[in-house]
This record gives sequence, C-alpha cells and structure tokens, in this order.
Amino acid sequence: ILDSDYIKAQIRTVRDWPQPGVMFRDITPLMQDPKTFRVLIDRFVHRYMDQNIDLVAGIDARGFILGSVLAYNLNRGFVPIRKKGKLPFDTIGEDYALEYGTATVEVHADAARAGQRVLLVDDLIATGGTMLAGARLLQRLGAEVVEATAIVDLPDLGGSERLRAGGLAVWTVCA
Ligand code: IMP
Repeated sequence: ILDSDYIKAQIRTVRDWPQPGVMFRDITPLMQDPKTFRVLIDRFVHRYMDQNIDLVAGIDARGFILGSVLAYNLNRGFVPIRKKGKLPFDTIGEDYALEYGTATVEVHADAARAGQRVLLVDDLIATGGTMLAGARLLQRLGAEVVEATAIVDLPDLGGSERLRAGGLAVWTVCA
C-alpha cells in the first residue's frame, strides 16, 4: 500500500548521531528509492495543487531537494532560505535558538513579494525553530505563509504545536 506508513517504514533512524543521545531520522532512503520518492512527492503535490500557491520556499539543505521538485511539479518558482552567509545579493536574516547557541537563516530581499502565497518546505520539524525563523523571513517580505510542510514531525519535541501557536498552518506526511 502506497501511503504514509509505506513512506514512514523507510525512514532510517540512526542512533547517537550527530551526538550521543540523539535519534536522527535519516530521510535519504526515501529519495534513493525511485518509487518511494515519487509517492512522497505526489503526497505533497496532491495536497497543494489546488491551494493557489504562488511560490515554494525550501530551507537549507534537505528542504531544497523536496521544495524544488515540488515547485517544479506545481509549476511554480522556488526560493532558497539559506544558512547565514551563503546568499550573494541583499538579504534579510532571522536568528533562532538552538540547543546550544543560536543560528541564522537568510533569504534574498527580493525572494517574495507582498501578498504572495508561499509554501514553506523542510524535511523535518523537531523543535520548530528553523521553520518558525523561515516563516518570519517570508512574512517580513510581506508574503503569506500558506502552510509549513515537512516529511516528518517529531511531535514529542513540540515543534508543530509551537508553529501552530505562532499562527502557522502545519502539515506533514508522517508524524
Ligand atoms: P528544529 O529547528 O528543531 O525544528 O530542527 C529542524 C531542522 O533540523 C530541520 O532543518 C532538519 O533538517 C534538522 N533536523 C533536526 N533533527 C533532525 C533529524 O532527526 N533528521 C533530519 N533532520 C533533522
């Protein structure tokens, strides 16, 4: 059966990576297998094909893989939200908290226009901090974040709840 259980069964959990105590969800097997990759992308396409999305924004780096294929299939453009210092033109940035310290994501100042309906894509929601920072960037450009979407939500970490509390709609293929 080609559904979210089929997709979920192929996510690889790597224990103690990148540090002891972490159970890392590795989504590379989903993209490596052609049938799974197609099923996965189709789940997103079916959800968003009728939602008047103007633009897809993907978060560095696995959000680029998903987001660009999704944008192509929706016949829309793609913009990257990148880690600090990678984008060449004028940028705006948002800092967000990590477990230890902070990180910054940036987007080009002309990546979205006021009123555009943007779909925000990443591979996984953990604490939600990355997605929230990405959403803020798009909102600062005047765009409307239609939904924050990912393959996986780790609900125990409270990220999707936090995003919803911040006024964002959230959808993931697997929880
Ligand atoms: P958050 O900001 O805590 O929600 O972390 C989500 C970000 O960290 C996303 O960009 C993910 O790619 C990455 N991330 C955190 N944990 C995992 C994991 O277990 N597997 C894959 N990516 C992860």
